[in-house]
Amino acid sequence: MTPVFAQQGSGDMDNFIKELMGKMTIDEKIGQLNLVTAGEAVTGSVVSTDVEAKIKEGKIGGIFSMTTPQRVRAAQELAVNHSRLKIPIIFGMDVIHGYKTIFPIPLGLAASWDMGLIQETARIAAAEASADGLNWTFSPMVDISRDPRWGRISEGSGEDTYLGSRIAEAMVRGYQGDDLAAAHTLMACVKHFALYGAAEAGRDYNTTDMSLHRMYNEYLPPYKAAIDAGAGSVMTSFNDINGVPATANKWLMTDVLRKQWGFDGFVVTDYTAVNELIDHGLGDLQDVSALSLKAGVEMDMVGEGFLTTLKKSLEEGKVSEADIDRACRLVLEAKYKLGLFEDPFRYCDEERAKQVILNPAHLAKAREAAGKSFVLLKNDQQLLPLKKQGTVALIGPLANTGTNMPGTWSVSADLANTPSLLEGMQAVLGNQVKIIHHLGSNLLDDTAYQERATMFGRTIPRDERPEADILAEALETAKQADVIVATLGESSEMSGESSSRTDIGIPAVQQRLLAALLKTGKPVVLVLFAGRPLTLTWENEHVPAILNVWFGGTETGKAVADVLFGDVNPSGKLPATFPQHVGQVPLYYSHKNTGRPLAEGQWFQKFRSNYLDVSNEPLYPFGYGLSYTTFTYGEVTLNATELQRGGKLQVSVGVTNTGNYAGEEVVQLYIRDLVGSVTRPVKELKGFRKLRLEPGQSQQIVFDLTEEDLKFYNTELEHVAEPGEFAVFVGTNSRDVQEKHFSLR
Ligand code: BGC
Repeated sequence: MTPVFAQQGSGDMDNFIKELMGKMTIDEKIGQLNLVTAGEAVTGSVVSTDVEAKIKEGKIGGIFSMTTPQRVRAAQELAVNHSRLKIPIIFGMDVIHGYKTIFPIPLGLAASWDMGLIQETARIAAAEASADGLNWTFSPMVDISRDPRWGRISEGSGEDTYLGSRIAEAMVRGYQGDDLAAAHTLMACVKHFALYGAAEAGRDYNTTDMSLHRMYNEYLPPYKAAIDAGAGSVMTSFNDINGVPATANKWLMTDVLRKQWGFDGFVVTDYTAVNELIDHGLGDLQDVSALSLKAGVEMDMVGEGFLTTLKKSLEEGKVSEADIDRACRLVLEAKYKLGLFEDPFRYCDEERAKQVILNPAHLAKAREAAGKSFVLLKNDQQLLPLKKQGTVALIGPLANTGTNMPGTWSVSADLANTPSLLEGMQAVLGNQVKIIHHLGSNLLDDTAYQERATMFGRTIPRDERPEADILAEALETAKQADVIVATLGESSEMSGESSSRTDIGIPAVQQRLLAALLKTGKPVVLVLFAGRPLTLTWENEHVPAILNVWFGGTETGKAVADVLFGDVNPSGKLPATFPQHVGQVPLYYSHKNTGRPLAEGQWFQKFRSNYLDVSNEPLYPFGYGLSYTTFTYGEVTLNATELQRGGKLQVSVGVTNTGNYAGEEVVQLYIRDLVGSVTRPVKELKGFRKLRLEPGQSQQIVFDLTEEDLKFYNTELEHVAEPGEFAVFVGTNSRDVQEKHFSLR
């Protein structure tokens, strides 16, 4: 391929861009700031128009939701052959948890606590997407969320700052590798900056109002971790932050992101987020576009406020040429780093697309990742694993729907060719186990709700006969089985964008089915589909075994068979607390103590911080998850009672597999700062180690704690470790831990 702009080869990005910008008109510079959608995936309600003509006129800097080497090549040819300055286009997409090979939803991946695995899933996603014409992904989504009513909790890593930060880094490394210009890597885009997951009442796009101190300690670190790992771009969030929406928030995008964190990539808005500043009440389209550019936005997604108003604002002195130049330069730099000036077609290789997309190694990794994401919530009398014999009845609305397996935000999934749970399980078990199946119940009682919950082709058949008739038939099916596997929970579109819920239980109609299945007296395993923590108090009391499988991606069915029948031992641990009742929300392990805490293990005490009707405990705590084997912890020991500044304290524990299966365990370490200048959480995760042990095998784990681990942002926003006493906790989840103490001078 002959380089279109051989100059890039010289390696001097600054000079190259300076020279290019010297030739650009204001219109052409503004054109670079315009990002349009080609509409292959519907991710918003406005659609871009006249894309071809705009490319030729130099009015488009980037396109998203356009795929395949052929289509991308055609659009790129328009840019590099027909626009005046031949500037290539950047091509983006929401590649969130896989491209065509779909991995578990991000909340599920987080449950693996396996950073190597997560990085690998991002690397595979990048390999596939970049073979299909793309060079930019709108991922990772690192928004901390402690509100399971919010549908997009499914798309992030859950409630914890530390775990979320480690995952953010792993994903950026996976997507970007160590060379953005390599043909198999994508530029990452950290989103949604910032605090999108703290939407009031869990209602999507809603307001956030938060102390700086909380932001810096709990919500901002994952974004920073992604940026420190080298993420090339950042996406703004839709929400208001303390009175200034993120997309117009100069403090956030310029002071924090650029000045404090040294970010040198570019900032793109979320979908029409500039235009939405009008409804936030910040002015008309011209006002808000100027505001957003000056606040620190470089690229405008879909809304074209920049394209249509910035020139006027320049003429009227509302923005300066320097503002436009800054934005244009950062967009061009991204293209340069991606190698697009050297070869605008480097991501358009039909042959590579054929070899790479959905190749067997990728599918094998997807199956492994799915198995590692599942969380065993309950397993009375070792009902699981099942024996590979007899008849199993798969009953429930999630049993035979391939389109729901990839989970939310899998816009490029090949839905038609994704096996359902039934099909995947049959493929693994062949003739060993007879699998019979019945819908059992509708997904939801209400037809209109079910329609809202099965959008974008994620269908679940609806049976309009009376519920009693459907149930009677299902029970007939159940009768023929030795074991019932109830496949219940949410559909994939019951979580994700604009899919908030106030009732986060299993829908009532499905619960009635479950109760009837339990009454048969046969063993019942609940295979739970969920894009968020659900309230499962009744289920926990009555169902002997519960396996939470989130949405496992392309290979869900096979992976569920692997785990149910014991070829894979479940090892997932919850990345977010499961409450007993939605009224406890927000409920998270790293809360503050209050001045009137409940005594350990207590429930109602008058004039203490608690509820009359439900205890303060979660149903399943953060970090919780069972295994088919048992792990026994020896005594936790510290090598000193004092941590010296600049030194390290060693926290050791021996872990033994005391059961009958080989298995993986995530050993977790938490700390508490017992006296501080500000109140500190009762526990904060500061380390974890995932180990695999054969039956009878032991391993000694040593965590090194340093002053860095004890630091937090004080009221002056200084990052300090204050002297005094600390508790350190080690255990199998955030609740079941051993406690030791040490001090820092
Ligand atoms: C979402 C983003 C996404 C964008 C582009 C928006 O609605 O909030 O997460 O990247 O659409 O599809």
